[in-house]
Amino acid sequence: MADKLVRGLSNKNNCRVFAVETTGLTEVARVKHGLWPTASAALGRLMAVALIMGAMNKSKDKITVNINGGGPIGTMMAVTKSDGKVKGFVANPEVHYQYNDTGKLAVGVAVGKEGYLQIIRDMGLKEPFVGNVPLQTGEIGDDFAYYFMVSEQVPSVVSLGVLVNDTNEILSAGGFIIQLLPEATEENIRYIEEKMRDFPAVSSLIHEGKSPEQILKMIFDDVEILDEIPVSFECDCSRAKMEEALISVGQNELEDMIATDHGAKVTCQFCNTQYEFDEDQLKEALSRSKNV
Ligand SMILES: [Zn+2]
Repeated sequence: MADKLVRGLSNKNNCRVFAVETTGLTEVARVKHGLWPTASAALGRLMAVALIMGAMNKSKDKITVNINGGGPIGTMMAVTKSDGKVKGFVANPEVHYQYNDTGKLAVGVAVGKEGYLQIIRDMGLKEPFVGNVPLQTGEIGDDFAYYFMVSEQVPSVVSLGVLVNDTNEILSAGGFIIQLLPEATEENIRYIEEKMRDFPAVSSLIHEGKSPEQILKMIFDDVEILDEIPVSFECDCSRAKMEEALISVGQNELEDMIATDHGAKVTCQFCNTQYEFDEDQLKEALSRSKNV
C-alpha cells in the first residue's frame, strides 16, 4: 500500500483526526541512512508526526521538528514543507536497544529524555515561530502530546509506531493524532479515554493491512474524511545548494581545501547524497564568493 495521510473530523465527538501510513518512506530513510532498528523506530516516529503537523495547517509552512534528548542517538530532525514530503536524519544511525520485558524497540532509551523537543514553523515571515518543551519520555508520541497541550493548549492523543523485521527492514510505520476541539464535552473525553485504553498499537494495525482511514473509523464510527494526500521521503538538496553551503564556510576555508585537499566532498545530512567538487570547481566557488 502506498504511503498516505488522511485528515478527518468526528462531529459527534468534537475532534479533528489525522492518520498516516509511512512504511515505504521509513524504509527509504532506513536504507539511505543505514538505520539500525531502534534508530529506524525513532526517526520513523518523528517523520510521521512531522507529516501530520504539516497537515494541521493549510498554509505551506516549513516545519522543522528536532529533538536532542542526550541519548545515544544524538540530535534527530525531520523537516516538511506541509506538502506530504518529509526528510530527516539522526546523528547516530547505528543505535539499537530493546526493552527486556516486552522486546519492544526502546526508543526512549535511544533518544533519552534530558533535553527538549523543538518545533520551528517558518511561515515565510521574518521571524519563524519557535516552540520548545522539555522531553517527557523520549518515546516521541508522549513528547508531542505534551507539546500540543503546553504550547498549543490542544489536548491530543498521539500514537506513533514502527515495526521492524528480523533483517531490519521496515514492516510497518505510521501514526494517528486525535485533537479535541474547543467545544468538546466531558462525555467526548470519556469516550476517547475509554476507546484508547485497549486500542491496538498503530504499527500492528498497519501491519495487518489497515489503511489510515480504516484506523480512524475504528476509533470514531462517524469519522468524515476531509482529504487524503500521498506522502514520501524526498530531499530537496542540489549541487547548487551545496555550493552555496561551501561558499558560506568562508574564503579561508575554501583556499585551504584547494591547497590541501585539491577538492571537497560534501554530504547532505538529510539524504546522504554526496556531492564532489574538484579543484577547478572550488576555485570557481572561491571567485564567486569574492564577488559577493
Ligand atoms: Zn539531500
